[in-house]
Amino acid sequence: NGVILPGCEAINIRKEKNDRSERNRAKGVAFEFGCGSGVKQVCLVESKVTIVACGALSTPPLLLRSGLRNPNIGKNLHLHPVTMAWGHFPAETDKPWPEEHKKSYEGGIMTAMCNIRSEPDQEPGSGGAVIQTPALHPGLFSILMPWLSGTNIKQRMRKFSRTAHVFVLARDKGSGTVKSPNCISYNMEEVDEENLQKGLEKALKILAAAGAEEIGTHHNKGRSINVKKVSYHEYEKFVKEESSRALKDLKTPICSAHQMGSCRMGIGARDSVVDQRGETWEVEGLFIADSSVFPTALGVNPMVTVQAIAYCTAQSVLETLKRKRN
Ligand SMILES: Cc1cc2nc3c(=O)[nH]c(=O)nc-3n(C[C@H](O)[C@H](O)[C@H](O)COP(=O)(O)OP(=O)(O)OC[C@H]3O[C@@H](n4cnc5c(N)ncnc54)[C@H](O)[C@@H]3O)c2cc1C
Repeated sequence: NGVILPGCEAINIRKEKNDRSERNRAKGVAFEFGCGSGVKQVCLVESKVTIVACGALSTPPLLLRSGLRNPNIGKNLHLHPVTMAWGHFPAETDKPWPEEHKKSYEGGIMTAMCNIRSEPDQEPGSGGAVIQTPALHPGLFSILMPWLSGTNIKQRMRKFSRTAHVFVLARDKGSGTVKSPNCISYNMEEVDEENLQKGLEKALKILAAAGAEEIGTHHNKGRSINVKKVSYHEYEKFVKEESSRALKDLKTPICSAHQMGSCRMGIGARDSVVDQRGETWEVEGLFIADSSVFPTALGVNPMVTVQAIAYCTAQSVLETLKRKRN
C-alpha cells in the first residue's frame, strides 16, 4: 500500500549518520506541500529508501541542495540537439499525394525514423544522427519560423496546415552542465554540428522528393526555394548552402526535448553519481530513477529507456528493502 501526494515540491533529501559505514544514509525527503494552492506547508516523509526522479535538469540541483558533493553531479548533460527543415505542400486537387484534405497536425506523429551514418561503413543505429517527423503546434511553428516581417509570418501561418517538418537529432558527443533547473551551460562539439548539417541536407532532399513546392530551414536569414520553379542545379546549390551553415552561432534555433546524463551511472564514484543499481555512491539508500542516470546520449527517443531504468532501479530497491527486513 502506498500514498501519492500530488502538488509537492521536494526541497531536500534528509540524511543521517550510518553506524556501519562512512557513507550517510538517506532517511527521507523534506517537501513543500500544497504547491499551486497558495498555502504551502513544509512536510517531512521518513523512508527506508528514497528515490529521486526529478528529471535530468532538476535532479542535480536537488542533490546539491541536499548537501551531496560528488563532483559529477550536474556534469555530462546531453541534450540530443535538434534542427529542422520544412516543406510546404499546397493543397491542389490534381495531386494524388498528399491528398487535398491532409493536414500537418492530423494523424500519427513521429511515425517515421531514419538513421544517418556519419561514416559510410558505420553500423546502422550507431550513427551520429536520426531523422524524424514531428508535429508542430501553431505556437511552436511561429516561434521557429524565421521572422522576416509581419506580412511574411502571416503568410507562413496561413500555410501552417500544409507545411511539414522533418527534424534531425544528433546523438551528441558534446555535453554540458546543469547549474540550476533553469540555468545550464552547453557547448556543441564540431562533430555534432557536422552530423546535424549532414542530416539537414538529407531532410531538405526528403521534403523535395516527397513533393514539397517550397523548402527551407529555420536559419534566421529565412531563405527558401520554390523547388518547382528552379533548375536542378539551383536546387542542389540551395540545399548545399542551407545545410552547410554554422549551427553553433545560434542563428538557427536548436531544440532539445531529451535531457540526459547529468547524474550518470558508472562503475566508480570518480566518474559517476550512481552505481549499476541506481544507488548513489555517496548516500546509502538514495536511488535515482530518471534520464539523468544515462551514461551517454542515447541516440533515440528516451522514454522507453527511462521506463526500463525505472523498472530496474525498482528491482534494486526491492532487494535493498528485503535485505533490511532480514
Ligand atoms: C515536447 C517533448 C516531446 C517528447 N517526445 C518524446 C517522444 O515522442 N518519445 C520519447 O521517447 N521521448 C519524448 N520526450 C522525452 C521524454 O518525455 C523525456 O525523456 C522523459 O519524460 C524524461 O523522463 P524523466 O523521468 O527523466 O523526467 P520527467 O518526465 O521530466 O519527470 C520529472 C518530474 O519531476 C518533477 N519535478 C522536478 N523537480 C521536482 C521537485 N523538486 N519536486 C517534485 N517534483 C519535481 C517534474 O515536474 C516532472 O514531473 C519528449 C519530451 C518533450 C519535452
